[in-house]
Amino acid sequence: MPDRSFLNWPFFEDHHRQLAVDLETWCITNLPVDHSDVDQACKDLVANLGAAGWLTYSAIDPDNPKALDVRALCIIRETLARHDGLADFAFAMQGLGTGSISLFGTNAQQLWLHKTRKGEALSAFALSEPRSGSDVANMDMTAVRDGEEYVLNGVKTWISNGGIADLYCVFARTGEAPGARGLSAFIVPAETLGLTVAERLEVIAPHPLATLSFKDVRIPATSLIGEAGQGFKLSMSVLDVFRSTVGAAALGFARRALDETLNRVQNRELFGAPLFDLQMVQGHVADMALDVDAAALLVYRAAWTKDMGAARVTREAAMAKLYATDKAQEVIDKAVQIHGGDGVRSGSVVEGLYREIRALRIYEGASDVQKVVIARQALSA
Ligand SMILES: Cc1cc2nc3c(=O)[nH]c(=O)nc-3n(C[C@H](O)[C@H](O)[C@H](O)COP(=O)(O)OP(=O)(O)OC[C@H]3O[C@@H](n4cnc5c(N)ncnc54)[C@H](O)[C@@H]3O)c2cc1C
Repeated sequence: MPDRSFLNWPFFEDHHRQLAVDLETWCITNLPVDHSDVDQACKDLVANLGAAGWLTYSAIDPDNPKALDVRALCIIRETLARHDGLADFAFAMQGLGTGSISLFGTNAQQLWLHKTRKGEALSAFALSEPRSGSDVANMDMTAVRDGEEYVLNGVKTWISNGGIADLYCVFARTGEAPGARGLSAFIVPAETLGLTVAERLEVIAPHPLATLSFKDVRIPATSLIGEAGQGFKLSMSVLDVFRSTVGAAALGFARRALDETLNRVQNRELFGAPLFDLQMVQGHVADMALDVDAAALLVYRAAWTKDMGAARVTREAAMAKLYATDKAQEVIDKAVQIHGGDGVRSGSVVEGLYREIRALRIYEGASDVQKVVIARQALSA
């Protein structure tokens, strides 16, 4: 039984504690799923998460708009990640892909949320390009106004849900000013003429991922989210909400690694005694438990701060994401080591976690970028 004592921390309200219990019950019955066809698995996961009501947390309710509950987002991601990385991915993308619409969409644009919150449409967030991953302001893709339309041309890469999404939130250069001040965000439905999948990308923890090509893609001017030229600020506001949740997913992976390790060290006999009797092993377990708790404190501090009404939580979210993802990598590495040969055996739980965690230290702001953010925030405090 995983450690649930963190739920007694003052960051949470009773409905969060109930959410954790209810979702845990659902996960035990429904996860993990078969990953052999990741596209189909993700579509099924979104449908099932939607039918069970979990996706209502991923975006605002257009009929009763309230701020996103970041603590709930983090509890859900942590819990899903502990059971199945692909389930966490499917949930996360419904939030990240529609985050701009939740925060800045018009009433008409928010109609999409009725579908995504029910699991009837999949969403994606298309920011990165071949020349601009960390360096977002260096974006090449253009959106040129032509009467009552915008015309999009360019390439987006590393797009999660690329090829299976129903709607893409796409960032492009509209040119109001140089660099970051000349970008805008748009809703582009998947079936729009000129939008194609240029390449599918395979990664160490497989999930739907693609490079997308936009050739003279015409969309109505009403597809613009927020104001023209505000796309960079808008994308950073979305990441401000969802960055802590990446930390939460890492926390879920780390907690699972710790649980697997606790089980292993009690049941594996070495030199005539349980593995746990070796003091060096106890030292590793202590480090793992400490890292998990410290990561949880930072993740839920960031989520709580946002839920308490902070306009931005740049510093808190960067710390949560950096610490939780980097430490999860270390915790999982120790879990693999303690499992011996079984730790690197294809299909073992800790082997899967070892592959799952790596990308979280790169996307939504690489660890090095988070350090730059934290240092700047510290200087300006
Ligand atoms: C599995 C996966 C899923 C993804 N999903 C999406 C998605 O859905 N939508 C989307 O838009 N993008 C997505 N991405 C893209 C992701 O956001 C980028 O990969 C990331 O921003 C890094 O960009 P890059 O790969 O171009 O690396 P680069 O920008 O070339 O950076 C390479 C490395 O340089 C270092 N570095 C970069 N900047 C700095 C700095 N300022 N200071 C110090 N060091 C620095 C870091 O170590 C960094 O890892 C995904 C990526 C992966 C791997």
